[in-house]
Amino acid sequence: AASTAVSAAISTAARNGVLIKGGRYLEQIGNVDVVCFDKTGTLTTTSPRMETLVTRNGATREDLLQLAYSAEIHNHHPLAEAIKVAADAAGVSPTPHDVCEYYLGQGVRSVVAGQTILVGNAKLMKRFRIKLSEVAEQAESISERGLTTLYLARDREVVGLFGIANPLRPEAVVVAEKLAAQNVELCLVTGDEARTVTELSRRLGMDKTYSSIMPDGKSAVVQELQSTRKLVAMVGDGVNDALALAVADVGVAMSAGASEAAMEAADIALIRDDLGQLTYVRDLSRRTTSIAQ
Ligand code: ADP
Ligand code: MG
Repeated sequence: AASTAVSAAISTAARNGVLIKGGRYLEQIGNVDVVCFDKTGTLTTTSPRMETLVTRNGATREDLLQLAYSAEIHNHHPLAEAIKVAADAAGVSPTPHDVCEYYLGQGVRSVVAGQTILVGNAKLMKRFRIKLSEVAEQAESISERGLTTLYLARDREVVGLFGIANPLRPEAVVVAEKLAAQNVELCLVTGDEARTVTELSRRLGMDKTYSSIMPDGKSAVVQELQSTRKLVAMVGDGVNDALALAVADVGVAMSAGASEAAMEAADIALIRDDLGQLTYVRDLSRRTTSIAQ
């Protein structure tokens, strides 16, 4: 009887847009002690928006958008999309680039019309030894507004900063409240900076917040939680989440914007763009398990 109930529940879930890759994941999602969330694209909408732009050293707003767009043209990260949308709106078109290197959780390095362009966070700038002391105040005031700060460097000189808004999904607060009411511990595990995520983390009532985490660091956080004998779910959407999704007891992909790597690594995929499916599948799991026993 148990297996009939479980397979019926898996088909019901599939009809409702939740793909479960096996009966044990249906069972485990209802029993997890901790849910770890990625931020960008998972708790926030998949379409962030360029909110503010700071120009420096003679570069214009259009210059910045043009260089960033050209550097990020092949990138599908939500932040790259925000740059593209802002460039399109300003009537700016991209220049083909020569080199294009993506540093997961950091940003991109590209060569555009003979100029070396870096677009990314402070870690990327540090990696290439770009001086940030002169823009420290500006960066701080951007991230204190809860915006993601990106630096743009041209030939080793910071010529601009972007502040990108990453609004919460409308359903995120309710999902977090429901999980907390069921005594699930909530963790935020993000590549973004602490000062950008403080407010978001507070609004969602996160029990723990891990910020500035590199992709391999996300799986280390999951393992650390598991080592305290907790059953851990990880919810994410990006290439940078794939390892953590694989390591977690239950990996859940938010698949409307998810990368193929995340989809493959996950045990459960939420194929509608709705985080509420997470609480839906947990409720289904708990009902099914009580029938099966
Ligand atoms: P999250 O863990 O919140 O989903 P990511 O790991 O995808 O975030 O990204 C972490 C940080 O890396 C971003 O906040 C940004 O600073 C930087 N970053 C990632 N991808 C890009 C990109 N394509 N362009 C610029 N910066 C990027
Ligand atoms: Mg993400």
